[in-house]
Amino acid sequence: MGEWSEYFEDFPEEAPQPPSAEERAKEKLDADIKGMNVDAFALIAKTKQKAIDKAQQQKKQFLESIDDCPQCGETSLNTYKLENASYLCECQCCGIYGSGDNFSSALHQTASAIGDNIDWRDGSLFKVSTK
Ligand SMILES: [Zn+2]
Repeated sequence: MGEWSEYFEDFPEEAPQPPSAEERAKEKLDADIKGMNVDAFALIAKTKQKAIDKAQQQKKQFLESIDDCPQCGETSLNTYKLENASYLCECQCCGIYGSGDNFSSALHQTASAIGDNIDWRDGSLFKVSTK
């Protein structure tokens, strides 16, 4: 027993060192930055989700029909008839969208955006007059 401690007494430079204050500070900083990034991303996501939720709430009254999405095939293509009488299609599943003067032209524009990788959640065409 005690051989290792005796060994390190003879060779103190080989003894395991606790992390220096500098190392600990750096570790803490790294962890803090990581934590801040996570918080920032969470905040951004939350803010974005809030804006989407609010818009979704506003959109409800304009919802005209729910159809099959030309891109993903899910029956989650919400079609809104907006105040200015134009139509807006937005898939709740894959995010594709399109608008037009009537339902078929909105659907047509939506269908022609297949593969463009667009998502209305990144910037919806939906607008309500603020008055
Ligand atoms: Zn879809």
